[in-house]
Amino acid sequence: MNKVIKLNRRPGRRAATTNRPTRTEAEDAVRTLIRWAGDDPDREGLRATPARAVRAYEEWFAGYDEDPREYLKRTFEEVAGYDEIVVLRDIRFESYCEHHLAPIIGRAHIGYLPDTRVVGISKLARLVDVYAKRLQIQERMTAEIAACIENVLKPQGVAVVLEATHQCMTTRGVHKSGVTMVTSRMLGVFRSRPETRNEFLSALNLRSRDLDAGRI
Ligand SMILES: [Zn+2]
Repeated sequence: MNKVIKLNRRPGRRAATTNRPTRTEAEDAVRTLIRWAGDDPDREGLRATPARAVRAYEEWFAGYDEDPREYLKRTFEEVAGYDEIVVLRDIRFESYCEHHLAPIIGRAHIGYLPDTRVVGISKLARLVDVYAKRLQIQERMTAEIAACIENVLKPQGVAVVLEATHQCMTTRGVHKSGVTMVTSRMLGVFRSRPETRNEFLSALNLRSRDLDAGRI
């Protein structure tokens, strides 16, 4: 019988009550997929694979058990007088597309203009990880990161740009390698003041007209 676990620590997602399978049920599902691929899950080289794959899932999807707001809440500091943007670029992330369960590998860039609070840069990197370690689409992940920073830090503005390659596109389907998808979310002064947005984009070597053209 399935154990019922209330997943009510998923900010930005509907609080869900779900029937989470047992470890044995999850391992059986992996065995089924191995058979679906055309191999024999009982041959020696594959015998331990279901257990390993299920443990890997625990790492890849650890973000469901974490509340990203906690990273920002616990660590902010009050600042007086700092009135320039803060930019953290090239935060590598690995996520998984919710359409194919295939890896999305990319980099996140975050900018914000503090009002009264700043956080340590490692916290922003952890924040990206929490959202990445869930089944995602890149557009929603971009929006979720920006919304979390806006809600907890209450800065004058937030900018988030994600650049990523989707292995569901490079290893199957249209088989286009080298294609990078770029998504962005601009809030507050990054949306209303072109010069602030440009300052952020030039820190990333991107141009505002790329944004206007819908390329980012
Ligand atoms: Zn996909």
